[in-house]
This record gives sequence, C-alpha cells and structure tokens, in this order.
Amino acid sequence: MNKTNSQNTVRVRYAPSPTGDPHVGNIRTAIFTWLFAKNKSGKFVVRIEDTDQSRTVPGAVENILESLNWLSMDWDEGPNTDKPFGPYLQSKRLETYYIPFANQLLKNGKAYKCYCSPERLHEVREQRRAKKLDTSYDQKCRYLTPEQIKDIEETQTPSVIRFAMPLEGEWHLFDIIRGEVKFQNKVIDDFIIIKSDGFPTYHLANVIDDHSMEISHVIRAEEWLSSTPKHLAIYKALGWTPPEFAHLPIILAPDKSKLSKRHGTTSVLEYRKQGYLPKAIFVFLSLLGWSVDDKSEVLTIPEIIKGFSLERVSKSGAIFDIQKLNWLNGYFIRTVSDESLATTILEYWEKYPEMGIYPVPSLSQIIPIIPLIKERVKTLQDVKPLVNFFFSDDIQYNNEDLVQKGTDKETTKHALKTVVLNLSNIQQFNESNIETSLRLSAEEMELKPRQLLGSVRVALSGLEVSPPLFKSIEIIGREKSFERIDNAISKLE
Ligand code: GLU
Repeated sequence: MNKTNSQNTVRVRYAPSPTGDPHVGNIRTAIFTWLFAKNKSGKFVVRIEDTDQSRTVPGAVENILESLNWLSMDWDEGPNTDKPFGPYLQSKRLETYYIPFANQLLKNGKAYKCYCSPERLHEVREQRRAKKLDTSYDQKCRYLTPEQIKDIEETQTPSVIRFAMPLEGEWHLFDIIRGEVKFQNKVIDDFIIIKSDGFPTYHLANVIDDHSMEISHVIRAEEWLSSTPKHLAIYKALGWTPPEFAHLPIILAPDKSKLSKRHGTTSVLEYRKQGYLPKAIFVFLSLLGWSVDDKSEVLTIPEIIKGFSLERVSKSGAIFDIQKLNWLNGYFIRTVSDESLATTILEYWEKYPEMGIYPVPSLSQIIPIIPLIKERVKTLQDVKPLVNFFFSDDIQYNNEDLVQKGTDKETTKHALKTVVLNLSNIQQFNESNIETSLRLSAEEMELKPRQLLGSVRVALSGLEVSPPLFKSIEIIGREKSFERIDNAISKLE
C-alpha cells in the first residue's frame, strides 16, 4: 500500500450523492467499502456528495444513513460527526476547500476561466459532430490573451472554470480489481471544475476531499473508471499522491442489461418494506461480484469480513438473481431462533402496519405460532396471510370451499358436527389428542382424512393451505374453534 495518509492506515469512504432512494448497486459499493475497512481494521468514512444542488432530493441523506443503520454498518466519520476531517457534506466545504484549490489551479495555469455561452458550446458540439469528431470543448478560452480576458471580465460575462488537461501523455492506472488500465490524455476534454453557480463539479470536489480526508483507497463503481484519468490529472496538478483505486463490477439484471427499475425493486429500503431481512440483503449483496471460495452460498458476516479482499472481486458484471435472494432470506428466517424471528416480525408490523396484523399481537401470542410458519415463508410479508386467522374471527371463504372433492354438502355438514362432538369429549385440548379425535371422526364418517381435514381447515382458517392444522386448532383454542366450525355448519344449512 502506498503511504497515502499520515497514519499509514486504511481509510476508505462511501461517497453517495443524495439524488434518490438508495439503490442496491450503490449500497453494494458501501458494503464492499465497509468490508474492506473492517478486514484491514481501517476507518470507514461516509461523505455526502451534494454539490449538484439541482439533483439533490430532500430526505435522501436520511434514507442513505437509515439504510446503513438497517444493515448494521457503522461508520467512523460521517455527516453526524465533524472531526477530524469534516464537514462530511460537500455543500459545506465550498469556501474552505474547493474555491481555494480551484484558485490555486488557476494561478498555476492548470485551469482557466471559460466564458463561452451555452449557445456557443452547442454550436461547437454540432460542428464537431458533423465532422465526425468527438464533441469535446474546442479549448477556445484556454488560449485567450491576458488583454482579451481583461476585456471580457469587464463585461461581466458569466464564466466557469475548466481544467487544462495535458495535451499529450498517458496514464497507467493500476486498478486493484482490473489490473493495468491506460488512458490517453489527448482524448479527455478540458472538463469543468467550477460551475457557473460557483459550485464545484464532482471531479474537483471528489479529488480534494479524498486527498484532504486522507483516503487511502477509492472503492467505487465501474462507471467511474472513465473519470479516473481526470482525477489523476488533478492530483498531479496539485502535487498530491493519488490513493489506490478499485472499480467494482456493474450489477446486471438476468437479461444482462444494467439493473434498473424496470427489472423490479432497486431501492434497499423498498426491500426492507417487502420483508427482507437485513442479514439476507447484506450477505446477498456481498456475494454480488465477490466470493470467498467460488462455492460458499451462505456465510456469516464475521466470515465475510475475515475473507474479504478486493483481489477476489470479479471484473465482470454480477447478476442480480432475485431467486437467490429469496432463498437466502428464507434460509435466514428458518435458522434464527423463534423468539428472535417473532421480535423481527413484530417490529416489521409496527413499522409497516399495512403489512401486519392490527392491533399488533404480543410476543407471547406470536412465539407459539413461529414453528408452524418458519419453513413456509420466504419474506416477512408472507407471514400475515398465513397467521391472520389466529388473531381474527372474521374468516372469509366461499361456502363451496368447505365441501371437499368426492363429498357433498350434507356429508360435510354432518362431518363437521361429528368433529365438534368428538372434540368436545377430549380432556386435554392439545395437538395429539386433537389429531386422534379428528382421524376418528374421519373414520366414523367413512371419509378420507384429507377430505375431513380439508373442511375443518377452511372452516377455521379460510385457507386451503394453512400452517399445520392440529397445532393451529390447539392454539386457537376449543371455544373459538367450535364457534368457527358452528359458523361453517350454519353456512351449509
Ligand atoms: N458521488 C459518486 C456516486 O454517487 C461517488 C463516486 C465515487 O465514489 O467517487 O457514486
């Protein structure tokens, strides 16, 4: 590792722009960066890149931080701390950082003011396009004489500051994931570093902050690779040593195109709402483009931290396979303790009342139900429809559903009456006695157990497929069960 900061420690940053809901791809970058910091006992910094004021969405910063909290990703420095290299919100760093360094570049001839109007720039682009040239800026203002500049300044023409890209030479970047990548200076535009609104562009602010926050490794999405030569040029112009770079592979949809909203949910907070567990999301995203050994499908978070290395991140795009996420979520649901799952479900229902049962049951009411449903749900969203009948007496079904295949209304009615009679004779109203009694009722009625149990299930739960019936009846209790069966009998009358 290059000695890029005063403590010679790993310092990495997650630098989201608050322009919308936290996208899974963006959070995957946060996860890889956080894992790298944890693996190296380094520092994880959260920096909010909000210099593009027109794209900043209210509430987006809160959502980003909430996503990190939900995934239990702690940060050492970030928007809620000011020390030691803050502020960590770029919009608060204008006067102290970006403007002075932009002026330094101007003074050293590494940047220049550009007075070209949007109309002229448009014209230049069109002319170059017609000649089949690239559409970069024609550098007119780079070669203005001091007198010309003085004249223009007197007219108070609005301006931007552009970086004067070296006209020749090339960069050899050693990317930790991609190996050597070369860039030619001459194909890179004299890009803008300070916009007409006085705000810096991403390139300038990003480099100044990575340097001044003593970042040792820049870990970011592949889409930023083409910006890196611009950043290297700024580092050089300011006489700074660049950090190391690692560009993460893009996340693809199953059709191999870039993952976007049209493929389904992309917001991490939306996944939370859909009932995914943070652990499942974390492990799933960790395995998108990284693996410890090419075969492990489930790892614990400490195992991921221990095994994580940028060298094992793949160069090629990683496919977002929702089936795998569903499987992992089901796996984590099955493997946590009943008590912990019950707590998670209740917290989920409290947060999203529309996904749950109201009033929210108590922990002691929900714990006995957990073993009945644990194997059957993939997401927390699946819980309510399966367990609603334990809490609500309003059981909805079509009367015909009570009558099972191969029987008729009369037989069913009679069978349900037999069930009530036999069940009322049992001493202890528990699962095994209930089972014996119901099987006996089927025998007496000369029905297949499946037929009799089917009718009882619909009467009690309204469901054709429900959690295990005998235990469910025990939990509902004798009195309520009888009420529901009596109700079914009267519907058949
Ligand atoms: N603000 C950029 C983003 O949202 C950061 C890119 C970088 O990490 O340099 O992706």
